[in-house]
Amino acid sequence: MRYKELSEVYERLASTSKRLEKIKILSDFLIKIKDGEEDIIYLLTGEIFPDYEEKKMGINSQLVIKSLSKSLGVDKEKIVEEWKKIGDLGEVAEKLIQKKKQITLQFSVLTSEKVLKNLRKLPELEGEGTINKKLSLIIELFNSISGLEAKYLTRTLIGDLRIGIQESTIREALSLAFFNGNKEASEKIQNSINKLNDLKEIFLICKQKDLKRLDEVKLIPGKPIKVMLAQKVKTIEEGFKEVGIPCAIEYKYDGIRIVIHKKNNKVFLFTRRLENVTKQFPEVVEYILNYVKGENFILDSEVVGFDEKTKTYKPFQNISQRVKRKYEIEKLRKELPVEVNIFDILFYNDKDLINMKFEERTKLIRKIVQEIPFKIRCSKQIITSNINEAKKFYEEALKNNQEGIMLKNLKAIYNPGSRVGHMLKMKPEQRDFDLVITGGEYGTGKRSGWISSFIVSCSDEGEYLEVGKVGTGIKEKSEEGFSFEELTEKIKPLIIKEEGKKVFIKPEIVVSITYQEIQKSPTYSSGFALRFPRFVSIREDKPLSEITGLEEIEEEFKNQKN
Ligand code: ATP
Repeated sequence: MRYKELSEVYERLASTSKRLEKIKILSDFLIKIKDGEEDIIYLLTGEIFPDYEEKKMGINSQLVIKSLSKSLGVDKEKIVEEWKKIGDLGEVAEKLIQKKKQITLQFSVLTSEKVLKNLRKLPELEGEGTINKKLSLIIELFNSISGLEAKYLTRTLIGDLRIGIQESTIREALSLAFFNGNKEASEKIQNSINKLNDLKEIFLICKQKDLKRLDEVKLIPGKPIKVMLAQKVKTIEEGFKEVGIPCAIEYKYDGIRIVIHKKNNKVFLFTRRLENVTKQFPEVVEYILNYVKGENFILDSEVVGFDEKTKTYKPFQNISQRVKRKYEIEKLRKELPVEVNIFDILFYNDKDLINMKFEERTKLIRKIVQEIPFKIRCSKQIITSNINEAKKFYEEALKNNQEGIMLKNLKAIYNPGSRVGHMLKMKPEQRDFDLVITGGEYGTGKRSGWISSFIVSCSDEGEYLEVGKVGTGIKEKSEEGFSFEELTEKIKPLIIKEEGKKVFIKPEIVVSITYQEIQKSPTYSSGFALRFPRFVSIREDKPLSEITGLEEIEEEFKNQKN
């Protein structure tokens, strides 16, 4: 398919904010995709591979500017100047290329397949001359395109497509294209997405226009899945009412959620962001190979840090750095040891277990895991109908440095990717939200050169709405903890636009923020502001789709008034 055709679809999607219109445009496009062209689905969402694929293009705005400059023979400074004026590098590329085309009248046809081919080479490049090789792959594309195509190629390269498409839009478009928008089909498509995380695969199944095919989608050990999430309760009484009694109550461990896969004697570890962290946790791989019976399986777990000397558990912040660190792993393993707590099982010896009742799944775990304290355990659990017993268990969990408890309905199935009412979390009242950094401001004086305050946002139907500005909790020097310098380095490649000292940042970095109070405020786009917000940690493990929503903030605001 011509890249121009895809670019026109992007443009149509960007030009309407109405969700139903977007679904219709997408659905019309999906029907037109021919056999063998299906990889275009990835480009449609601004990606080049399925969600779970680790390979990244590794292109930032600076590299795109360099490519444009070389391709068009325009000074880099001029492009940056235009960028500052217009605010969107995509539009700058469009304008510059349109101008050039008027002079040269050069025409050639670029296909989406060629775009994908070049972009997919980018992650493979390493070592000497990488930058130049990347540049020539991008320049080759820029050399043969129109303004509109350049706009969307640029946006794809910097990871900011701006067409307002979410996973749910694609789901509804697939349902409309192949099942007349049937509600049951939408649900089944979503379930399949949660299990496979590969839109092209799902597209191929939907194309058969047979709902049964969607039912047959099974988990595949080795391929990451979206985890099941919990709703919140404030009291045990409320929890009992929600999940029914007797119910299972477990420690809510304060660690990192890791889904463990085993297949062909190999172990794979994934975060809830679908990132493969197998290399970062070699000891977990050993424990699984040595202490869990079974040919192949998928387990859900929380990996928790502990102090080697005192044998007490440590909070999440202490081990969060293990998720990202790719070097000195053995050193970190000694400094920040972890224990795996298995709390669910989704697949065992070639069988998908997500429709099995929780009481049976939890029994199976206890059969196959050999528990070795401070290496691997089954999550600590009681099954009870007794409020006092439950309260005692809750107190004990807190005394053991855990976050609280989880209450689970014994008859419930496992719903990948959903926040369900049959698994609940209860922890002491704590005023914190997980928000995404969307902006910032360069500091002055000794903080000049660093971004020293950060605009944080919550989510609202695919949009990000600001709820405040945070500067406290971040350290001056790296030795003292997470510093302005480190955060600035992390953020620089994500800058979309600069305006004086202000920067606009592509939503990607999720942070935990505590606050004292929520106030109504016209200053921020959410209509709320956090009083005394404070940075606690970066949530490397948490995907954007799971940050605090506007609804939750509204609810906390109401509760606070009461
Ligand atoms: P929070 O910030 O409260 O941890 P969250 O948004 O990170 O919430 P939730 O799904 O809302 O995640 O809360 C449940 C989390 O608790 C799970 O994601 C998991 O990481 C963790 N957890 C700890 N112990 C258990 C357990 N026994 N069963 C299920 N989840 C557990």
